[in-house]
Amino acid sequence: AELYGIDEWGSGYFGISDNGNVEVRAQGDHGQVAVPLTDIIDGLSQRGLQMPVLLRIENLVDSRLSILNESFAHAIATTGYQGQYRGAFPIKVNQQSHIVEEIARFGERYNHGLEAGSKAELMIAMSVLQNRESLIICNGYKDAEFIDLGLQARKLGFKCIFVLETVAEVKLVIERSRALDVDPIIGVRLKLSTKVDGHWAEDSGDRSLFGLTTKELVEIIDLLRAAELIHSLQLLHFHLGSQIPNIRNIRAGVLEACRYYIEMVGEGAPLSYIDLGGGLAIDYDGTSSVSGHSRNYSVEEYCVDVVEAIAQQLDAHELPHPTIVTESGRATVAHTSVLLFNVLDVGHFNPGPIPEQLPEKLHEQISNLWYTVKGVKLEKLQECYNDVIYYRDQVRDCFFSGEINLRDRAFAENLCLVGLQKIVELIPQMKRIPPELEELPEQLADIYYGNFSVFQSLPDSWAINQVFPVMPIHRLDEKPSRQATIADLTCDCDGKLDKFAGPEGETNTVSLHPINPDEEYYLGVFLVGAYQETLGDLHNLFGDTNVASVRINGDGSLDFVHELHGDSISDVLSYVEYDPQSMFRQFRMAAEQAVRDGRITVSDRQQMLAAYSESLRGYTYFER
Ligand code: PLP
Repeated sequence: AELYGIDEWGSGYFGISDNGNVEVRAQGDHGQVAVPLTDIIDGLSQRGLQMPVLLRIENLVDSRLSILNESFAHAIATTGYQGQYRGAFPIKVNQQSHIVEEIARFGERYNHGLEAGSKAELMIAMSVLQNRESLIICNGYKDAEFIDLGLQARKLGFKCIFVLETVAEVKLVIERSRALDVDPIIGVRLKLSTKVDGHWAEDSGDRSLFGLTTKELVEIIDLLRAAELIHSLQLLHFHLGSQIPNIRNIRAGVLEACRYYIEMVGEGAPLSYIDLGGGLAIDYDGTSSVSGHSRNYSVEEYCVDVVEAIAQQLDAHELPHPTIVTESGRATVAHTSVLLFNVLDVGHFNPGPIPEQLPEKLHEQISNLWYTVKGVKLEKLQECYNDVIYYRDQVRDCFFSGEINLRDRAFAENLCLVGLQKIVELIPQMKRIPPELEELPEQLADIYYGNFSVFQSLPDSWAINQVFPVMPIHRLDEKPSRQATIADLTCDCDGKLDKFAGPEGETNTVSLHPINPDEEYYLGVFLVGAYQETLGDLHNLFGDTNVASVRINGDGSLDFVHELHGDSISDVLSYVEYDPQSMFRQFRMAAEQAVRDGRITVSDRQQMLAAYSESLRGYTYFER
């Protein structure tokens, strides 16, 4: 567990059983219940769902929503805050219908609403929210159609709020509200000067792309007042960025926003909501630090700090406490999904055996390499490394010029690996490890080839170097003896996982077990429920993976509540505008021609057509 930090990033939802399996843990009727991921994989394979699979665990969305809402409720109760909390899940973080429906269902008891950034998302919100107390927050640039849709939602009784991003939008809201005769609820998204740490630092501060400047805010207030709609201006919104690692930045942002709140009330806006947007971070690397992949606070601390900061500012002006809104996406859904895949093969840099004695008649540079390798010792490790690399390069030069043949070069390359492995084994005994040698173990690490696509399933790992927890999900009662990077199926040099969280910080390799030829080896990539599914793309035409949702019942039994087969080859071909049927017709014509030419028999033709047609229906990933 320590090697992978699962007890930290797992947040109590994932852990290792006594017999070495990763298990999902949930609250049962009589204490904790746990289900090993390998049992789930068995169940999936019995249902025809092969690897890779995106596994969603329903209980975790339920739990995350409860933690967020209960923590705010607790902070409100203990600090004597007079307002309430209303969450709004941003649909863009995971738009999949099953997830949004779960949020609407589990969130109903807390009046947890939804945030929509487009017309399509607003339509989703209106179709899944049953409850009229929950908020629908409309962010993003809005055209007349978007606004009309939101106004109709108001007519149906939804608490639908337009958050203005531009001055132009306010004119449209005024015009459409008059046309449809609906009193809108309006918010303004402010550009705060508070800057945050972490990957989304640019979302904050003066240069952030979104939000109104103070001058634009004043313009909007004037326009609303002139239109006799100032009573509609009820919400102040800001979003400092996602995954904010440092709680101090959040507090500073809230304090700054409150200054605007106070001023806007002074201007006659009857504000009653303060919306912090997203930003509540999760612990991807198990370090609880301000590294970009973690945070230095808990959900409970976040809630207390927010509640206290607002109360402190507004009490000084004797203003009533507003409803606190947050649009937490990542913190709500990241835990719920795990990408599971099998390892197809391992490429390694293990040297083969070398003879006892130096073979005769070898080129002089190979002999030099031989003696250098034989003489590797701890006392002069850097020097030995330099010499091994020097003679290896000499041998390569001689190969280019034709002085050394293919077999001798192969002998020398293997010799070089023997030398480098000897050096790697001695490195831990060095008092001070020079930077060049520090990188050597990684250069000799194995490459595990996984049955998945980084681009389809973990796009943030490729696009923004997001670290996700990755580990074997079984055999953990056995010491993992290999260091590895993980390559995907795409044959793209970016199609790899080579940043891992470890007990001593970020590493470029992960500890894995040697694979057994007669047993599948499964890896899991955890905390992938936020942003990954929709941002994923079709690089190399690897399509959506199989998806399964499970629920762990109070007695520890498992329900497979939802299963979805991933894209077929025919699906992905049609996404890029091929017509699979006409492709099949062309293939059939080519086969017919081959029969006429006598290259294949009619029965060959039948087999080929059947195989082609089956492939069109088949999974885009590696099938055993
Ligand atoms: N609200 C807005 C306006 C956003 O832009 C985002 C994402 O960046 C979110 C909410 C969700 O943020 P998070 O996933 O950090 O909770």
